[in-house]
Amino acid sequence: MRFHHAPLRSLSILLFAIAVVAACAGQSASTESTRQELPGALFGLHEMDFHLHSGMERPVDLASWIDLAVADGRRVFLLLDHIELYRKTPQDYEAWRAKGGFQARYPLGAAGHQALFADFDSLSQRKDILVFKGWEIGERELDEGLETAPMRLAEVIGWHIGPNHGGEPPNGQSLLRRVRQIKEVQKQFPVPMIVFHPFPMRYENLWRAAQKSGREIHSIPVEEYRFFRAGEQEELIKLLRGSSIYIEMSRDTEQYFDEPACRAALIADLAPLAQAGVQFTISTDNHHLRAANKSFAPERYCEPAGITPANTNGLVRELLALRARRALGEAGRGSQKK
Ligand SMILES: [Zn+2]
Ligand SMILES: [Zn+2]
Repeated sequence: MRFHHAPLRSLSILLFAIAVVAACAGQSASTESTRQELPGALFGLHEMDFHLHSGMERPVDLASWIDLAVADGRRVFLLLDHIELYRKTPQDYEAWRAKGGFQARYPLGAAGHQALFADFDSLSQRKDILVFKGWEIGERELDEGLETAPMRLAEVIGWHIGPNHGGEPPNGQSLLRRVRQIKEVQKQFPVPMIVFHPFPMRYENLWRAAQKSGREIHSIPVEEYRFFRAGEQEELIKLLRGSSIYIEMSRDTEQYFDEPACRAALIADLAPLAQAGVQFTISTDNHHLRAANKSFAPERYCEPAGITPANTNGLVRELLALRARRALGEAGRGSQKK
């Protein structure tokens, strides 16, 4: 979607964005780590996809699905599925699967969890990609209780920040609450975790509410798009900096970035986090062939907010280190037995 704007309004938004970036630059001197990376030590943004649906909703066989992403430049993946799909009854699953026209078919329950992760493991033979595996879990399960057995299979857990339909759009307070809950869950499940799509989910809900009430999308001001209120960014930075919790920059962001007020809010919300050392993940959240066939260019909406390879490679490095430690542990245990 493209929009037309009054030049004055665009100018005021531009000035606002410049002020925000200038404020961030001033703040960065004291907080930003000044690590210098070797050339070639980091994956580019478009080379990573830390949220690729590759389970029950897969439209083609797994190898072809991955090949589509590789053809567009992807090299590092977090493959996952929605954990709740495996709780369907056999009848519901068949009806849903037929309606969606999915190629994939998995058993339900524990057998399905095992089959899915065995499929993901089969890709470890490939030399052209690096594959990690995980689940997407609805944020409400943080309140209502977790299904722990399948979670033990995951190298990464991503929390779906909603709501999808209706309800209050996510904001600073709701995200702070979730991050505190995730820190508690990590005591039992010491794996990296991601908060999935908090920002585009807010915009989606604002747009849906506007459309429902007949309100012009262009009349939504920057302040209404803003995710954080005073003090909330500082609080979130304290919780996230140096932690193993990441904020997702999903491809959904792209469509909202074309709306100037939304873009200004996104930059004002994210740039201070990026400057302060919070780590992000890059992803497509692709489910369908149409999206998988469209070229992925996350630089366009990440770079203006200060989200670069330097603050999106942390998860790759952490996961490689965890794998290396596990391999050493297993080797160590093997030699002790001898
Ligand atoms: Zn989601
Ligand atoms: Zn998803």
